[in-house]
Amino acid sequence: MNLYVFAAGVQYLTAMGVIFLNPDFMIREETVFGPIFSRRLGSSLGINLLPEKGKICNFDCIYCECGWNRDGRNDTVLPTAEKVRTDLERMLIKLAKEGTPVDSITFSGDGEPTLNPEFPQIIDDTLRLRNQYYPQAKVSVLSNATRVHIPAVFNALRKVDNPIMKIDAPTNELIAKINMPAPGYDIARVIEALKQFEGNFVLQTCMLRGNGFDSSAPDVILPMMDIVRLLKPREWMVYTIDRATPMQGLEKFSPQEMKALVQPVIDEGFTKVQIKGAVEDN
Ligand code: SF4
Repeated sequence: MNLYVFAAGVQYLTAMGVIFLNPDFMIREETVFGPIFSRRLGSSLGINLLPEKGKICNFDCIYCECGWNRDGRNDTVLPTAEKVRTDLERMLIKLAKEGTPVDSITFSGDGEPTLNPEFPQIIDDTLRLRNQYYPQAKVSVLSNATRVHIPAVFNALRKVDNPIMKIDAPTNELIAKINMPAPGYDIARVIEALKQFEGNFVLQTCMLRGNGFDSSAPDVILPMMDIVRLLKPREWMVYTIDRATPMQGLEKFSPQEMKALVQPVIDEGFTKVQIKGAVEDN
């Protein structure tokens, strides 16, 4: 998943284990990377449960900062729970010795983290290590919500401090234009699965125009607000594109435009709405 604002340039990112397949896109080279400063999360240590040299996702979003799925580099090796545990503990020991603060441990990386078959075990290990080394740090997972209906995935997600779940559009037809999901995606199933959180999750929605999609169109924004009313997430994070996108010609929204679009929900006081002109994420 993809929401980070980097304050520094290419050399800094490369030194932190982030590489570029295409100079415009970003692939994390390591399983545990950072910490990176995030305006929203503070000092955030990233965990990438996808391959170190490629992207794997069951979405292929037209705005994905990792580029198209097809542009991956044929690396399909997922890190094991043992590798994640070892790499994370080594990093936490090092950072603690240096006195480096860690405010957040954030699962994101080059694709959908819940696709890693050991995701539930990895979450348990991460919470244990967090409690041991940085008990004040929050654990966040950025996910496209496609696998919340799987009991083991949901049970893992509900243990973390911030399950951040993506819905960009309200119908399967519209989602096909912006997220291009793998066959079998069904927004109705995702909504039903998200109800299990009973509002204790963060909903994230990317707003943009392009590819015949417009987040401000009534057939998008009005049903999206109905989804918010139905699910009552504890926070709705609305953001727009901030980096190069694999599909050309996409248009971003200004924070003012986004705020105006979601104002009815703000007025109803349903949820905390966070509006980001630039997206923050690992
Ligand atoms: S959900 Fe979309 S933005 Fe996130 S990694 Fe997958 S393709 Fe990229």
